[in-house]
Amino acid sequence: MNIHEHQAKAVLKEFGVAIPRGMPAFTVGHAETAAEQLGGPVFVVKSQIHAGGRGKGKFEGLAPDAKGGVRVLKSVEDVKANAAEMLGRVLVTHQTGPAGKQVNRLYIEEGAAIAKEFYLSLLVDRDTSRVSVVASTEGGMDIEDVAHATPEKIITFTIDPATGVWPHHGLALGQALGLKGDLAKQATKLLNQLYEAFLAKDMAMLEINPLIVTADEQLRVLDAKVSFDPNALYRHPDIKALRDESEEDPKEIEASKHDLSYIALDGTIGCMVNGAGLAMATMDIIKLYGAAPANFLDVGGGATKEKVTAAFKIITADPNVKGILVNIFGGIARCDILAEGVIAAVKETGLKVPLVVRLEGTNAELGKDIINKSGLNVIAANDLSDGAEKIVKAVQGAA
Ligand code: GDP
Ligand code: MN
Repeated sequence: MNIHEHQAKAVLKEFGVAIPRGMPAFTVGHAETAAEQLGGPVFVVKSQIHAGGRGKGKFEGLAPDAKGGVRVLKSVEDVKANAAEMLGRVLVTHQTGPAGKQVNRLYIEEGAAIAKEFYLSLLVDRDTSRVSVVASTEGGMDIEDVAHATPEKIITFTIDPATGVWPHHGLALGQALGLKGDLAKQATKLLNQLYEAFLAKDMAMLEINPLIVTADEQLRVLDAKVSFDPNALYRHPDIKALRDESEEDPKEIEASKHDLSYIALDGTIGCMVNGAGLAMATMDIIKLYGAAPANFLDVGGGATKEKVTAAFKIITADPNVKGILVNIFGGIARCDILAEGVIAAVKETGLKVPLVVRLEGTNAELGKDIINKSGLNVIAANDLSDGAEKIVKAVQGAA
């Protein structure tokens, strides 16, 4: 789960991280009040969307040379005028895709005098089962670009969860960023605070880009992007409350209500599968036959008729879906129950695209029988590759 920059900064502040003063604003009035309270002389008005690249982003409907999604301003009047221009407007960045994202809230922050910009992030490294620290002197730009052009400027080290942050980690960070004296000490302190926050809140990623050195030699978090492990949210009601559903795919929200593992993708073949491994294999084999999956969907082992119906509705609600492949291996789940769910869903939503069903395992014959007798136009498949081949053919034939 992702949160907004202003929320991420508030979370880090709980752990003692020095954060510039700022306030979220949902209206022009809020923005004005915030600017008056901050007092200036420099204000930064920042679009709050769950995507990076805001600074270089472009607002829809404004002149091509208009300011982007992060604006440094010098008066309360300017904050007001810019907030009015930004709120409700769609911001397109390289991370939002061409459709962009509507800016529904702003963050009004006191301006900082930047002497240097760095990159710093913490993330879960699954290879080493540790938290990885990634640091670079090349801050304020895309770390992917830095990794491509000057990989030697990215320094990575890991922290053993059994021992936590050691003084040598702090030294390594200071060295990576070329910091000396008090700034090196600040870097060590910051690393300890960030690591503590990362573990305590079950973060999956914490990215600070840029981390800055101010004109008066202070290390400051200027931008913060945090995502959390969704499987650990149950133990963080405070974090769960920060969820902004307007930033998420409505199909994924609906899926989470039914406890379905669903991720929207950009292909044309909707997949309904039980088991994450089988779902991955199904996606692979669709690719092998020359098409692309429209989603990842695991209905789970104990799939009920209601769950299957909900899953089917979510798949058919996606206008990109040109065909559906149901691939069920009945273990704990019974094929007859799943077949009934599919039929109930098709009867409710109607079927406008080809549907291929492959059932195997517990009560497979019964399930196939139910589908055959339903009178629906369903293409039966014998195995996984047969199913993938048939749905790809059906979709390409219709195109
Ligand atoms: P992003 O583009 O979505 O990553 O948003 P950032 O929060 O990183 O802001 C983009 C850029 O705006 C930063 O890299 C800075 O160069 C600039 N910026 C942000 N806040 C300030 C500030 O307080 N003072 C100055 N001078 N520039 C800022
Ligand atoms: Mn940034």
